[in-house]
Amino acid sequence: MSGFKDYVGKVWRGCETLFMALRTTLPYMIGASNNYKEVTEEYPDRVSARMPEDLPPRYRGFIHNDIEVCSGCRYCSDVCPIDCIHIETEPGPERNVSWVAVFDVDHARCMFCGLCVEVCPTKSLEHTREYQGSVFRLNDLVQSYGRGYATREMKARWSTEQKARDARAEEQAWFEQSPVGAELRRRMGVPEDDKK
Ligand code: SF4
Ligand code: SF4
Repeated sequence: MSGFKDYVGKVWRGCETLFMALRTTLPYMIGASNNYKEVTEEYPDRVSARMPEDLPPRYRGFIHNDIEVCSGCRYCSDVCPIDCIHIETEPGPERNVSWVAVFDVDHARCMFCGLCVEVCPTKSLEHTREYQGSVFRLNDLVQSYGRGYATREMKARWSTEQKARDARAEEQAWFEQSPVGAELRRRMGVPEDDKK
């Protein structure tokens, strides 16, 4: 008899918890009032209530680097607390200008603290408003902005161009500073404050 009572008690508790749960879900199912509107959104349906425009003005989404402006100074990778920016540079087309061959941001590790963007002196780094990063492989969350390694031909061309620039600068200095240059300037009628 006590076994039967136990059984009935368990069925009763099951029904009780079911109705307690329904007290929360039922109003949503029947749309009881404005307080019980549907809140579930289909994903990845981008035409839903939440759009990037709905995000707070200073929202920190995925990081983007304008590699044309990036100087390769590495301030961002040095400040990143979890080392998720990997940079490799080579001597660039001009003296003291780096060629940013590799610039990878691992968004799988990034905690979107914004430190890298804050310290970037050229403002090439920014947080976008993009937040949808569903991928099948973790490695796909690594975003690459680098220009790729410079080829031998590129390096040879840069070297030739740099030599030509150096020769022009030397010639200009001679024209401006030597006595012969001064005489040439005088004959050419170049004003002293416009030597070029
Ligand atoms: S946002 Fe923070 S964690 Fe992410 S790359 Fe920048 S410094 Fe690193
Ligand atoms: S701090 Fe800015 S300019 Fe310097 S390497 Fe990073 S992104 Fe490039």
